Amino acid sequence: VNHLGAPEHALPEWAVLHEKIRRAGGSPCNGPQRDDWTGTEQQQRRAAQACLDCPALFVCALYAKAADEREGTWGGETASQRARRRKATA
Ligand code: SF4
Repeated sequence: VNHLGAPEHALPEWAVLHEKIRRAGGSPCNGPQRDDWTGTEQQQRRAAQACLDCPALFVCALYAKAADEREGTWGGETASQRARRRKATA
């Protein structure tokens, strides 16, 4: 998770996420495939699969919700999957 900055109101969740990643020694989204997290729909789907192996998955999803992240893959969900869920729960 280094592709986007965190909004002020979600800094606590951002800090929790980063601490979790630090303790885990890294995350798939900081690996060689990192462009997938902000890439095409197909790339983001591959990224979302890789998120399933991430020890920070749960806190990452909490951060994305708190920050209302609209771009890229976070916590195992692509941007379009989150958009659909926002619509469904609106
Ligand atoms: S859940 Fe996905 S986006 Fe979040 S830190 Fe892990 S690999 Fe990165």
